[in-house]
Amino acid sequence: MYFICNMTKGDIQVLKFGGTSIGSAEAIRNTTEIISKSTQRTIIIFSAFSGVTNLLSDISSFLLIGNIQKANRALEALIARHTNIIQDLFLNVGYKKQATQILHRYLSILQEQINMALLVDYDPKQTLALGELISSEIISFYFKEQDLNVAIINALDYMRINENDEPDQGEIAQLLGNLLNDCTSQFIITQGYICRNRNGKIDNLKRGGSDYSAAIIGVATNATTIQIWTDIDGLHNNDPRFVDHTTPITSLSFEEAAELAYFGAKVLHPQSILPAKEANIPVHLKNTFQPSKPGTLIKKQNFTEGIRAIAAKDGITSIKIKSYRMLMSFGFLKNVFEVFDQHKTSIDVITTSEVGVSLTIDDTQNIEKIVDQLSAFGEVTVEDQLSIVCIVGYFPSDQSGLGAKIMTAIKDIPIRMISFGGSLHNVSLIVKSVHKIDALNQLHSQVFDKNLSLLSV
Ligand code: ADP
Ligand code: ASP
Ligand code: MG
Repeated sequence: MYFICNMTKGDIQVLKFGGTSIGSAEAIRNTTEIISKSTQRTIIIFSAFSGVTNLLSDISSFLLIGNIQKANRALEALIARHTNIIQDLFLNVGYKKQATQILHRYLSILQEQINMALLVDYDPKQTLALGELISSEIISFYFKEQDLNVAIINALDYMRINENDEPDQGEIAQLLGNLLNDCTSQFIITQGYICRNRNGKIDNLKRGGSDYSAAIIGVATNATTIQIWTDIDGLHNNDPRFVDHTTPITSLSFEEAAELAYFGAKVLHPQSILPAKEANIPVHLKNTFQPSKPGTLIKKQNFTEGIRAIAAKDGITSIKIKSYRMLMSFGFLKNVFEVFDQHKTSIDVITTSEVGVSLTIDDTQNIEKIVDQLSAFGEVTVEDQLSIVCIVGYFPSDQSGLGAKIMTAIKDIPIRMISFGGSLHNVSLIVKSVHKIDALNQLHSQVFDKNLSLLSV
């Protein structure tokens, strides 16, 4: 179910630029040139400058353990990072001065948070939000220097999440619609990642969340397209950080892209495809540094049989429950699932046998309580430092050979769990994280380098 503000299709396009796309004065100039070519009304979503959310996260970790000295040192790095960008970016003295004043306003908020951290109940989310607030304001002054007709709309005034940390699409559409109606500018800058929760407090959409902001805003405004501009030429067929010779995929279905995002392709936030899929708004991944490259277009389309891409997600924990009674005894699985439900912990992969069930989670906040409750139903074993290796494509159930191909490719790697058949688009393997890079490479060389990919499954 999705909601749109009073926008007609064709009114608006949504462009999101990640941290590296605005990571230096030169990158900002390049990004501005891309944006300025647009003739349509455009909402532009900015992340924090690259590295800034990491610095803010360091500051909040130091504050949580009371290490004020280290927090102040990270603050110095943060000041230098922003000051250098402002220094290199502006030619106009007036705009440079205004950008510097805004920066100092936010830095004094941060300094106050550091000074007060030991005295008040410190909330890290107030700190984490500052990166996007600062980058968006600085770039809006640069747009003005470039004579672009720009306004800034603060995401904290419309982006809302509910008690389950999910976007409240209805409220967002209404609030954003009102703000857009009051604004006549062609270019509207807003912040990714940040939002308010149901208590009205500053919150966020989790790391990498600006992609999710783009999808939510795209749906709320019934945008013609959601463009995600980043530092790579689209979604690749394997993780380029760990595998050589990966290649971009020019076109993907929503279903395949959603599996890849959820199971680890860092280029997209795990939840960013679903809203766009529901509203049928194409998502275009583009390279800010090579804008003429086609990138990846994610849209509703017929599926092509075969393996399209491989991704992996770390930080996985498996929980195995060996039943005291037979698995099939009435209500066993229901009881197990209820425990996870109670602790708002989602399960990624599940396998069963006659005597037990193994499942994986990535959020271990409540693991002690979960294990404690599960112990009532059977013997519980927990294993962490696992990864999900996910093979994505279109695997019709009447086709043979896929299992053999995957297993042959990684025949030397110990596999902890296998899941296939949950959808026609995904095979998931759970391996120890130490084997992840080998698994990605061996699968890649068998599936893609030997050119077996699309037709041979
Ligand atoms: P941004 O700051 O623009 O949001 P991210 O760093 O979040 O960018 O995502 C882009 C990075 O994702 C790429 O530089 C690349 O290293 C990594 N990545 C991981 N898996 C993939 C993949 N399958 N395709 C493309 N990039 C990937
Ligand atoms: N700045 C946030 C992060 O680094 C959000 C984003 O870039 O998408 O996680
Ligand atoms: Mg990202």
